[in-house]
Amino acid sequence: MQIPLKVYNSLTKQKEEFQPINPPFVGMYVCGPTVYSDVHLGNVRTFLSFDVIYRYLQHLGYKVRYVRNITDVGHLTDDADEGEDKIGKKARLENLEPMQIVQRYSNDFHNVMELFNILPPDIEPTATGHIVEQIEMIKALMNKGLAYEVNGSVYFDVSKYNENNHYGELSGRVLEELMSGSRTLDGQDEKRNPVDFALWKKAVKGHIMRWHSPWSVGFPGWHLECSVMSAKYLGETFDIHGGGMDLKFPHHECEIAQSQGATGKSPVKYWLHTNMLTVNGQKMSKSLGNSFLPHQLVTGEHELLDQPYSPMTVRFFMLQSHYSSTLDFSNEALKAAAKGYKKLINGLRIAKSLEYTEDGGGLNEKVLKQIDQIIENIYRSMNDDFNSARVIAQLFNLLKKINSLQTKNLKFGELGKEGFEKLINTFADFVENVLGLREEKPEDVDGILDILLKLYAEAKAEKNYDKVDEIRSLLKERGIVLKDMKDKIDWAYEE
Ligand code: AMP
Ligand code: ZN
Repeated sequence: MQIPLKVYNSLTKQKEEFQPINPPFVGMYVCGPTVYSDVHLGNVRTFLSFDVIYRYLQHLGYKVRYVRNITDVGHLTDDADEGEDKIGKKARLENLEPMQIVQRYSNDFHNVMELFNILPPDIEPTATGHIVEQIEMIKALMNKGLAYEVNGSVYFDVSKYNENNHYGELSGRVLEELMSGSRTLDGQDEKRNPVDFALWKKAVKGHIMRWHSPWSVGFPGWHLECSVMSAKYLGETFDIHGGGMDLKFPHHECEIAQSQGATGKSPVKYWLHTNMLTVNGQKMSKSLGNSFLPHQLVTGEHELLDQPYSPMTVRFFMLQSHYSSTLDFSNEALKAAAKGYKKLINGLRIAKSLEYTEDGGGLNEKVLKQIDQIIENIYRSMNDDFNSARVIAQLFNLLKKINSLQTKNLKFGELGKEGFEKLINTFADFVENVLGLREEKPEDVDGILDILLKLYAEAKAEKNYDKVDEIRSLLKERGIVLKDMKDKIDWAYEE
């Protein structure tokens, strides 16, 4: 079975066979969060999509170095070159040190990633940790005549760059149109051209995030960090760069211009972009007020939610669509996902509990062929630009075979040990390791203990002392001792 992995490259706008620059190593960079507010479910979708890509590349045997940054300076409130730093503004409003804001929302981000079983990257660099390297890249761009300084700020000269390169190659923007469509310079603007973008900004009075540089005390532009950190950890040309669709322009377009301008090389072989999570067709976003936070989802406390949904239900829901399609949130879809997820996890429990025994069946070539076909379809789906939705459908087909084994409608002997192991291992590997679905055990331990205490009390009332002893000793094995009080039965941790 040799099915090549194909990925949709946003740069060439084609599905291409995935051929790493230096196999088996794969360098992958994904733009991480700007840590000034809680992570919402839309952000989760993007990071979850890349999590599955990361997991699958590893499943295929690639040695992936996954870098996902933390933006902790330079991202301004207008998403361009004016306005206040998002983190600085929050720090000002709450009267905190900006790094307190960064720490708080980085912690929140990590907790949310863990909640949805999204693996941590191999390297998680911060923009503030790479100011020196950013200054170096600005110098390199100035030396090449691609950047200029005005009043202590430095800007990238887009039209100069475009003389020998193609600004707009990723997003399909045409420079002439961008120039004629942009607002006219109002005299206060320092840029030679409105499409130029900041590499370094001089800090105005009151701007609390500031560093020394050859040009001024100031701070780096938003796009620069990703060019610098990807090159530092993955090299000047690396395999995969990802992010949400909304980052294509200007963020990724500017990244390409900076990197290509500084090194003369195209920085990324495959650009991958995830599509948006929407609510009633509108992008989920904090500023639109239609976003919910992971904890609201888990408690069900939001006007758009009919009920609570578990993190793995949400993960399953997101996996059921292709990462490049929009995904609309709906209670109906989530309720269906809850059922699908439980079905798959029950299958996993069965798969793990089954033990191969010689039960007298002879090899059944027809069933073995069906299983091979389903497994091939799983790889075919995943190799078709990571189509997790189709993988899930195929896993349900494997599940039917697993259920037949459990109900003994299919004998172990019909599969043989090898066929059996292939079935179980492929199913478990894809559910747990590639799709990253994990079992959610009931968390209400107190409730379950209450049930046991009730059974214990009933056994005592019936003078069924065998049962009484059994319950006692089973709980003791787990470090819990029962206490017969006068008026009730209580429990304690065994000392
Ligand atoms: P931010 O912290 O706003 O820079 O966003 C972090 C990541 O989440 C970026 O890659 C965005 O493209 C992505 N993102 C933001 N909103 C959504 C959404 N509604 N659906 C999917 N991804 C999103
Ligand atoms: Zn970025």
